[in-house]
Amino acid sequence: MRFSILSIFPHLLDSPLQESIIGRARSDGHVVIDILDIRTFTDDAQHTTDDRPYGGGEGMVMKPEPLARAVAHARTGDESPARVILLSPQGHLFTQGLARQLSQEKHLILVCGRYEGVDERFRSDCVDDEISIGDYVLTGGELPAMVVIDTITRLLPGVLGCPQSAEQDTFSRGLLKHPQYTRPRSFNGHPVPPELLGGNHREIESYRFLTAVRRTLERRPDLLATARFTSDEKRLLARHGLADKVAALAGTDRL
Ligand code: SAM
Repeated sequence: MRFSILSIFPHLLDSPLQESIIGRARSDGHVVIDILDIRTFTDDAQHTTDDRPYGGGEGMVMKPEPLARAVAHARTGDESPARVILLSPQGHLFTQGLARQLSQEKHLILVCGRYEGVDERFRSDCVDDEISIGDYVLTGGELPAMVVIDTITRLLPGVLGCPQSAEQDTFSRGLLKHPQYTRPRSFNGHPVPPELLGGNHREIESYRFLTAVRRTLERRPDLLATARFTSDEKRLLARHGLADKVAALAGTDRL
């Protein structure tokens, strides 16, 4: 998969995209990441990328022409049209589901705004989707672009050492992930739950499933609306007195 990031601060993105899993995904050829400096698509000696807003008021607005040229350049060589995404606090909220959907694309062009944002005509003519990473306002789209790339990259086949890892992540099936433990067996007087120590695979799976459901009920009951359960899991929920509570949140009479 290919990502093109359009930014006026391209060096902000250098280091985080070279390290750890993303760095390895790049060197192993799972992803190609191009970082384009929007200033190189300007046509004046000062490399102007922003100007004062028509109508007056606060701040500066990013000019449409350099952005449109940068998008056209990023598209070079594409067989099918790349999807152009503007990072914006006004966009659709970025979720694991949206990340999974976008991981099917061949090429994403991520446009990072700055100042008061981009000229409306660039948005309407050149942008396919707008994505927000949350209900707060950052100074620029570079951090959101990194969030989007990081989340999508770990979903791509071959990127994580253990492919099941992403499937069992929080949000992947309408549940938070179960609590996890490693050595030592006792820490600050808290022992590791005995269910995890006996080596009984079935018992471990049941324990993990039930703790994931209880944690979701406690912290994010809204997620259960999309959760689906196998018949074994439904029996387990019933046996532990959780079936009615979960069914109510899942929007059904019974599981
Ligand atoms: N004036 C704009 C508004 O009120 O909607 C906010 C502009 S913000 C200071 C500058 C840039 O940061 C935006 O154009 C966008 O690219 C990026 N940005 C800020 N918050 C964001 C968020 N929550 N999600 C995605 N991008 C964001």
